[in-house]
Amino acid sequence: MSSQVTNGEVRMLIDGELVEAASGKRFDNVNPATEEVLGPVADASSADMHRAIDAARRAFDESDWSTNRALRKRCLEQLQAALESEREEFREEVIAEVGTPRMMTFAAQVDWPLEDALTWPAKMIDEFEWERTLPNTEKMGMASRRGVIKEPMGVIGAIVPWNYPIEVTLNKMGPILATGNTMILKPAPDTPWNATRIGRLIAEKTDIPPGVVNVVTSADHLVGEELTLSPKVDLISFTGSTATGRRIMEKGAATLKRVFLELGGKSAMIVCDDADFPSTVPMASMVCVHAGQGCAMQSRLLLPRSRYDEGVELITAGMQGVPYGDPSSDAVVMGPVVSARQRDRVLGYIEKGQEEGAKLVVGGGRPAHLPKGWFVEPTLFVDVDNTMTIAREEIFGPVLVVIPYEDDDDAVRITNDSNYGLSGGVVSASEERATAIARRIRTGSIGVNGGLWYGADSPYGGYKDSGIGRQCGIEGLEQYLETKAIAWPA
Ligand code: NAD
Repeated sequence: MSSQVTNGEVRMLIDGELVEAASGKRFDNVNPATEEVLGPVADASSADMHRAIDAARRAFDESDWSTNRALRKRCLEQLQAALESEREEFREEVIAEVGTPRMMTFAAQVDWPLEDALTWPAKMIDEFEWERTLPNTEKMGMASRRGVIKEPMGVIGAIVPWNYPIEVTLNKMGPILATGNTMILKPAPDTPWNATRIGRLIAEKTDIPPGVVNVVTSADHLVGEELTLSPKVDLISFTGSTATGRRIMEKGAATLKRVFLELGGKSAMIVCDDADFPSTVPMASMVCVHAGQGCAMQSRLLLPRSRYDEGVELITAGMQGVPYGDPSSDAVVMGPVVSARQRDRVLGYIEKGQEEGAKLVVGGGRPAHLPKGWFVEPTLFVDVDNTMTIAREEIFGPVLVVIPYEDDDDAVRITNDSNYGLSGGVVSASEERATAIARRIRTGSIGVNGGLWYGADSPYGGYKDSGIGRQCGIEGLEQYLETKAIAWPA
């Protein structure tokens, strides 16, 4: 079962050199669909991380990277070409190390970020308003000409999760480099090879100066924490769990670290009573795509009480029909979850749902026909109350909860009664009605009647516990910039 890629890059990129850990230590990269070891990768210690931080600091302070826009544009274009030259290797590798279904590699796992995550920020190097002029002023007898200048933040620690590693990495790297910063990329230990491959391509196929991008892999999360503690790092750009996001803020407070946090979600799909149920309700089984391991997944399905039974019947059939199994197959939309730890966590939530009185109608366990690999069955709970744990916490597994509601106001109330606010969807026969509901949802992104907001030019991030700041779009570029007011005598 599953593609067995074994030629992953072992070495990290530190100060322009492809290197092993100074200790010589390595750790195993494991295929979640087979539980087999794919191969090794360097296991950095804090000392390696500090070498990378020092290199990034030097590259920012002492090279012309931060001011030379033409160089940055050329380097981003070179990196884009290099990534495209190994597109198929990335595809097979991400299927093997992430367990993502092949189908998803033609979308957000590989092809979508290869389309615009670097090319859009590269284009913005020419189009972004780096400087603007303010009206002259007269104060205390002194006339002044005034302006505003945008400058790079400095050294960025980019910490990436395992669920969409290439997508998150490139959507950090594009804006970080386009705006003139230097960076240390810290991938998740579960999925290191896509990052070391990017590091090798940078070293071998681009003019990106030494130290501008460093890639540090480690089995130990606390090696990543050095980024949040170091006074030489100016901003942490983090995507991952809300718990780790909180810890990063706490640990970063001592050095007044800037933070961009893209965290968890518990997004809702609201189906209005006038919607075409047969064509819309089964779409909620999309929560199983990539085994539910997406922060923007719509993991709460809100059905109107007046058509509840009809909706439950349709979504039950939808969840029963989800094709899952070997992620290298063209036919599946769902592979395993990333690790035994995640599988046990998901199964724990399923148990909790039953304990708290939700009705389990599909799945609920490990599939008997897949004894190897960290699989969980597509799982559906109905008659869920929004106060239950499975309605409040991010499960990050193929688990959908169905919650009945009375009217539009009630749907809005239930949706907003969440610590999270990352994404969501509304479907109705009336676009106007769906849009009116969408405007009332406290969330960073929302699709009306299936509309997809995704793109490197589209700001993405969360309200409430779903994060701080925005990835992508002009707002995403701004995040990696400092603002300087400047004045001269008029
Ligand atoms: P995590 O947040 O612990 O890990 C994400 C990244 O942060 C990894 O690179 C990890 O090495 C790093 N990290 C962990 N602790 C750190 C620390 N103290 N300082 C600096 N970096 C640190 O996520 P996880 O444990 O891999 O997954 C747990 C849960 O997080 C999941 O079940 C899911 O709910 C959530 N999650 C959310 C997203 C998302 O995109 N919102 C992505 C992955 C996981």
